[in-house]
Amino acid sequence: MRERGEQLLAIYHSHPRSADPKPSDTDVRLAYYPSAVYFIVGLGGERPSLRAFRILESEGRWEPMEYEVSLMPIAETAETERAGLS
Ligand SMILES: [Zn+2]
Repeated sequence: MRERGEQLLAIYHSHPRSADPKPSDTDVRLAYYPSAVYFIVGLGGERPSLRAFRILESEGRWEPMEYEVSLMPIAETAETERAGLS
C-alpha cells in the first residue's frame, strides 16, 4: 500500500446477531490501526445497520463516529479518474 501511495482509511466486519453493533472486547484488542475508521455491520435486526467507530487499542476503549455515505455513478467515477481529478 505504501509503495502505491495508498492509505488505510477504514476496516469493516459484521456482527451477524447484533441489531445495533458495537466493538467487542476482541475487536478492541485486535484494533492495530488507530487512525482507521472501523465499520461494523449489524445483521441481527429487521434491516442491516452500519455503525462507525474509532478504536483505541492501546487505551482499551472505543468511541462512536459519525459518517456520511456518498454514492457516485461508476461512469462518473471513471470520468473523474480519466480527467485526473481524483
Ligand atoms: Zn466485531
